Amino acid sequence: MTTSSAHASPDALPIDALIVGAGFSGMYMLHKLRGLGFNATVLEAGSGVGGTWYWNRYPGARVDIQSLEYSFGFDEGLEQEWRWSERYAPQAELERYANHVADRFDLRRDIRFDTRVTAAHWDDKAQLWEIKTEKGAHYRARHLILATGCLSMPTDVTFPGIDTFEGPIYRTSRWPHEGVDFTGKRVGIIGTGSSAIQSIPVIAEQAAQLTVFQRTPNYSMPAHNGPIPKADMDAWLKDPRAYRAASKDTGGGFQNDGNTTTCATETPPEEVRAELERRWAWGGFRILGAFADTGVDTEANRIVQEFIAEKIREQVKDPAVADMLTPKDHPFGTKRPCVDTGYYATFNRPNVSLVDLRAEPLVTFTAQGITTKAKDYEFDAVVLATGFDAMTGAIDRIDLRGRGGRRIKEHWAEGPRTYLGLMVAGFPNMFTITGPGSPSVLTNMINSIEQHVEWIAECLVSLKQHQQTSIEASAEAEAAWCQQVAAAVTPSLLPQANSWYMGANVPGKPRMFMPYAGGLNTYTEICRQVAAKNYEGFIIRQGDRVLSDSHVFTSHPPMPDIPAKLLPIIVERLTAAGLMPAAQ
Ligand code: NAP
Repeated sequence: MTTSSAHASPDALPIDALIVGAGFSGMYMLHKLRGLGFNATVLEAGSGVGGTWYWNRYPGARVDIQSLEYSFGFDEGLEQEWRWSERYAPQAELERYANHVADRFDLRRDIRFDTRVTAAHWDDKAQLWEIKTEKGAHYRARHLILATGCLSMPTDVTFPGIDTFEGPIYRTSRWPHEGVDFTGKRVGIIGTGSSAIQSIPVIAEQAAQLTVFQRTPNYSMPAHNGPIPKADMDAWLKDPRAYRAASKDTGGGFQNDGNTTTCATETPPEEVRAELERRWAWGGFRILGAFADTGVDTEANRIVQEFIAEKIREQVKDPAVADMLTPKDHPFGTKRPCVDTGYYATFNRPNVSLVDLRAEPLVTFTAQGITTKAKDYEFDAVVLATGFDAMTGAIDRIDLRGRGGRRIKEHWAEGPRTYLGLMVAGFPNMFTITGPGSPSVLTNMINSIEQHVEWIAECLVSLKQHQQTSIEASAEAEAAWCQQVAAAVTPSLLPQANSWYMGANVPGKPRMFMPYAGGLNTYTEICRQVAAKNYEGFIIRQGDRVLSDSHVFTSHPPMPDIPAKLLPIIVERLTAAGLMPAAQ
């Protein structure tokens, strides 16, 4: 590790920006700010860079957006010198990439590793953030940038008797760096989300016996991992700029051949079938974009549900197990779908069994294993793939206090409130990268990160040029944005599932759809308009003097083309939610 830069020592002169987290967001934010002449320091709880790809090193961990698109596009040199080995790179390669980025741009000299931020308080008089770390270091910074990740704080799920279990317990999100050898071991795994669905086939190949404890089955599509498809590679090599631009100009931030005009319910069944088969064969998330009505109309969604149920039955030999693995309680796409390599077929192995926790609830851990209402299971090791306190968990665990000492937890007591998912009213000069209220987890994160970092950097340049010391979201603009976030998701089926998007996986967490579902391209345009309108909706100050005081939010997204069939459904849902006046 290189030595400190002049700007990075605690208790020194205030720095321009303190960035929390050295994942892809924190690294690019640091690089971007440095290039613009700001001094910045990153504080990172882990011992290395990479964020998600530093922590989530469980067997089988890999990206589920094609690597060509899930990689930085901000630097052509970086882009040209890096070649991905596979369509969906594994965790180790992504971590190598993160390290390569850190080395290439000499980022480490401004990153403090093994440094967890515990508190950040806004000092209104000094117009600075006072930041404290777990080890007692103290920093002062004009701007606080939370690059803390959306899925970085594991839930504190626990089970009766868990401390009595004599074997090791591993969390997928905190996997040992030295790896785990399950050879000859009896292993239990709790959870069937993306992390479990990726790790189960790999653990099953090694363990003597693997028992999967499932509470809710998930939809999973095959990755069909392998070499990068020739058509994609050729298009990318021909014009990487155009390829990136096309990815960014989509709702999801990646090329998914999305169909926004044809409804499944208005298409002959054999054509629907052929289209779904084509997308299933291509793999990954492509099936999500097959028809314009899947995400809105229950009947159309059922067509895809039934198609996937059939695919599960084709892959799983035992019809009872296939039925247990088939989702029944939520529409397709309303919980984040998974992308797998051999998940369903793994249940044909003689050493793998599935336990339905709804039929036989978990009673307790014991010294030897797990007892359910039906049976005692003995294990040498247990894996918890039980998920994250998504979007807010990493932020609200910091003792964050804004103007007048107001705590973020109080401000977010009824669910996270932000303006554009970038700033919070009453928390001047504090930015969130891919925060709640931004498209983030509904998109290719790297493209969302690039958009946020570039918007924040431009904002800091503008403040500096005009000698302004603080920027803060107005309460009115924040409220208007929260309405936009609600209006974007309400027409869809997304709120119907008990998903982590809704905060439903954390007991006591307010139920609210957290990301902005209006699409990355729409959102990018809104953010551009806000900045162009002299930071509409923001209060800008020089010391305690207000220079610009905007309380409005008028940057409305362009209306997408919506198939006529969907309009009544959308109007009905918006009206019922009070987001549209009822027709007279
Ligand atoms: P998750 O999707 O929230 O899954 C957690 C699993 O644990 C669920 O099956 C859940 O069941 C179960 N669970 C939680 N508490 C439980 C309890 N008390 N008893 C029994 N079961 C319990 O978490 P994840 O798999 O870590 O994935 C989270 C997100 O991270 C994904 O949706 C995705 O966005 C991202 N991710 C991405 C990748 C990738 O890109 N390749 C890989 C992994 C994760 P219920 O459904 O019943 O609550």
